[in-house]
Amino acid sequence: MSKQPIIAAESLCKTFPGPSRGIGRGRSQLRAVDGVTLEVMQGETLGLVGESGCGKSTLGRLLLRLQDPTSGRVYFDGQDITHLSQSALRPFRSDMQIIFQDPYSSLNPRMTVRAALSEALRVHGMVGTASEEEQRIAALVERVGLRPEHMRRYPHEFSGGQRQRIGIARALAVSPRFIVADEPVSALDVSIQAQIVNLLSDLQEELGLSYLFIAHDLHVVEHVSQRVAVMYLGRVVELATSGQIYSQPRHPYTEALLSAAPEPDPSARKRRLLLQGDVPSPLDPPSGCAFHPRCPIAEKGLCDREVPGLRTLESGHEVACHLAR
Ligand code: SF4
Repeated sequence: MSKQPIIAAESLCKTFPGPSRGIGRGRSQLRAVDGVTLEVMQGETLGLVGESGCGKSTLGRLLLRLQDPTSGRVYFDGQDITHLSQSALRPFRSDMQIIFQDPYSSLNPRMTVRAALSEALRVHGMVGTASEEEQRIAALVERVGLRPEHMRRYPHEFSGGQRQRIGIARALAVSPRFIVADEPVSALDVSIQAQIVNLLSDLQEELGLSYLFIAHDLHVVEHVSQRVAVMYLGRVVELATSGQIYSQPRHPYTEALLSAAPEPDPSARKRRLLLQGDVPSPLDPPSGCAFHPRCPIAEKGLCDREVPGLRTLESGHEVACHLAR
C-alpha cells in the first residue's frame, strides 16, 4: 500500500443552523462535524464507525465536496479543493464517487440500467462513439455480477442486492479513484451483505480504489478496513489499524461499541462495557469530553471540564481520552 493520501481532511467542521433560541436570542448551532483531521491512503479502506447521527455521512459528503465545510480544509491527491467552485471541481468529480445505503432512492425509476449508466458516462465525457459506450456499459454490468439482459430492466425489477450492484456500476462508470461507501450494506440481508463486501474488495484490488467505508456494524468494517476511525458527536475519538481497534480498543466508547456488537465467538471478548443513556443532542453537546455522561470511567472535575484532544499513544492508537494509556 502506498503511503500517499488520496484524500485528507484538516480540522474539518460543519455546522448547520438549529432551531431559534427565542426572540432576540438568535439560532442555535448544530455541529455535525467538529474539527476532524484524517487521511485515506491510496489503495486503502478506512472504516468510519459510530452511532447514527454522529456525523459520519456529513464527513463523507464534505470530503467529496458535495457539501461545503464551515471551516477546515479538504485535499484530494495533495491539492487543496476546499474552496474550488463547482466548475473548477468538475475534473475531480469523476475521481470521487459515492455509493449510497439505499441505491433505489438515487436511481431514476424511469431509467433502465443501460440508460442510467449511459447518462453517467456522458455527463463525465467518458465515451466517444456509440459502440464504445455499448462495450463499456456491457463490461460494467458484467463486472458487478449482473447479466446482459439486466441492462434493459428498471430499478423496481431488481432485489436490494442487485440494486446495490447497479449503484456500484454507476459509481465505477467514471473510473473513480476514491469512493465513499455510505452504509452500502446496512439495508441488505446478511448473506447478501457478504457478496457486496466481497465485490467491493475485489474491485479495490483490481482497480486500486480507495474507500471511506461508513458503517455502524463493526464486524462489517473489520473485514474490509485496514484502519478504522470511530466517531462520536462529530469528532474522531479513536483511530487505529483494524487489528488494534478490535483486539485492544483504547477509548471507552470504542470498547462499548464492540461490547454492543454481536460477537461470533463469545469467548473472544470477556469484558463487557455497556453504553448508558442516549447520544446527547449535537445542538447542546455536553461540556468537556462529549462522552462523559455515558462513560463508565469518567473522572469528575476533569472529563466534564476539559475537551480531550486526539493524541498518539505508544501503541500507535490515536485516542481522544484523558485516561487512555
Ligand atoms: Fe471517558 Fe473521560 Fe475518556 Fe471521555 S475523557 S472517554 S469521559 S475517561
